[in-house]
Parts: sequence; structure tokens; C-alpha cells
Amino acid sequence: MRALFVSLGIILLVAAQVAHATDRMPAGTLEVIVIDPGHGGEDTGAIGPGGTTEKDITLQIALRLEETIEEDLPHVNVVLTRTDDTYIPLKERTAIANRVRADLFLSIHANAAYRRGASGVETFFLSLEASDNEARMLAAIENNMVPAEELDIMDGKKEVDELTSILWDLTQTETHHESQLLAEFVHTFLVEAVKEENRGVKQAPFIVLAGAMMPAVLVEVGFISNPEEEERLSQKDYQKKIARAIAGGILDFEKEISRIAYED
Ligand SMILES: [Zn+2]
Repeated sequence: MRALFVSLGIILLVAAQVAHATDRMPAGTLEVIVIDPGHGGEDTGAIGPGGTTEKDITLQIALRLEETIEEDLPHVNVVLTRTDDTYIPLKERTAIANRVRADLFLSIHANAAYRRGASGVETFFLSLEASDNEARMLAAIENNMVPAEELDIMDGKKEVDELTSILWDLTQTETHHESQLLAEFVHTFLVEAVKEENRGVKQAPFIVLAGAMMPAVLVEVGFISNPEEEERLSQKDYQKKIARAIAGGILDFEKEISRIAYED
């Protein structure tokens, strides 16, 4: 019985937070954006054939994105989950976004595949069910690059008990559609900018997106395992191109939520 009350309490708390999060959105203006450079510290992420690490690429792009947003969207406050080569647990990254009451969370990653020729960009939003096998595997790889004790919240579907899924439903109903919208805007700009293979907007159970109280997406900016893409991803101009594209997608997303709010 006591457990039931505790569960109800948690559900009400989450519901209240969700209501609050959406309260801030009707104005349609983004105030705080959290940019999350994937991996860091002992967690290198994927390593390219030339030795480039995913954690370095994601940080460099995130710093350029911060710069771009400050120029193009001067009314927005940018918070980075890390600004140097530090290890930040996955759950802490969304916790930071919730703490600063971010309006948007965007995690940057670079892809890897056994097939060296694999290339292109793909953008994800959270779902318990992955879009396809490749998406499921990618989420498993990204989720497993952390100590085992962090895998407790979403280690496959089996681990998601009833309460978790209720909480998940509550947190996601308000933001799920907006996450999809954000993913589509960012992805469109990205594909247009990099002229690489369009791998599409997909869904997968990424731990780093779970628990975000705001629209949240994960961008795989290219394949670090592909020697040509590894080389490109290391170049300053290419990183700037990616940053400008993501900022463009964010700007259009803001316009769209403003328009929807205005129509309401
Ligand atoms: Zn990654």
C-alpha cells in the first residue's frame, strides 16, 4: 500500500513538472538550450581508423554550435553538459537540462559501423521501440559505453517495469511530438548542408534522451569509422557547417512552435 502511495506521489510530481514545462512553451520563444557533446573523459566513444575519437569531435562541434547559436539566436542561453574532456554519466546529462529548465536538449554523436563504407547523417528522438534493427543496435552501443550501474533505467524492454512505463508515458506525451518536430527540422538542415547520405529521422531507446522534460534529440553527424568522413568531421569548416545547420533547424523549430502557440 505504502509503495502505491509513493508511486502515486512520483507520478503526480512528474505530471506537475510536465505541466510546468509546457507552461513555459506557449510564448514559443526558446530561452535555454542544452547542448550535450557525447562521451568524454575515459569514455572515448567510437574511434576512427585514423585515431580520431568521437568525444573530441562531439565537443568541437558542440562548442562551434554554442558560438553559432549565440550569434544567430542571441536571446537564447546555451548550456553545455561539458566544456572539456570530462566524463559525465548519461543520466546526469538530462538531469542538467531539467535542472536549468531547458526548453530543448540536443545530444551530439558520431556514428560507427563495421562496414567502413557506411556514411551519412541520422537524427533520433526517444522511443522504447527502435525504428529498425540498426537503430536498436546503435542505441545499445551508445547506451553500453557507460559503467554497467547506469544501465538500470532502460536496459532493454524487459527492464521497463509498469511504473517506469507509466512515468515514461507521462513525461513523453507532452514532449514526444515536439521532439519529433525538432528532429525533423534539424535533420532537414543537416542533410542539406553536408550533402551526405540521408539516413533519416529515427526512434530508439537512448538512455541519454530518457528523462528529459523537454523536446530532446540525438544527432549522429557522420560515420567516424569511414576514413573519408573521419577526415571531414575533423575539419573546422565542416564542423562549422554542421553547427550552422543544427542552429538553422533549431531556429525553424522555434518559429514552428511559436506559430502553433499563436494559433492556439
Ligand atoms: Zn556516441
